[in-house]
Amino acid sequence: MTVAPLAIGLVAHDEKKAALVEWALAHADFLKDKALFATGTTGGRILEALPQLHLVRLKSGPLGGDQQLGAMIAEGRLDVLVFFVDPLSPQPHDVDVKALIRLATLANIPFACNPATADLIVAR
Ligand code: PGA
Repeated sequence: MTVAPLAIGLVAHDEKKAALVEWALAHADFLKDKALFATGTTGGRILEALPQLHLVRLKSGPLGGDQQLGAMIAEGRLDVLVFFVDPLSPQPHDVDVKALIRLATLANIPFACNPATADLIVAR
């Protein structure tokens, strides 16, 4: 019997994308055998740094990517959400951001909104 790889959603607001790339580089060994799903721009940045990862790029967050990740959570297809939120900038798609966080909370999946929490998930 084969076990499905852990499915991880990756999102970062613009001011946090560098921090997420840095986090991914630091945890490249952990991420290498995971099924990764990222919003469009975030995924592009991660793949520039780590082209070997198994990463599916969804739509850009403001164009529906956050909702795509939310749908995956609702369907039980996402195990972990790493979403580096920018608490200092208004987001035009704030309703989508809230919906994604709400679904991660509702589904009780591990949800990291900053690098310190994401580190703990990797270390578990
Ligand atoms: P992006 O989306 O990765 O396409 O920039 C992230 C977001 O939801 O802001």
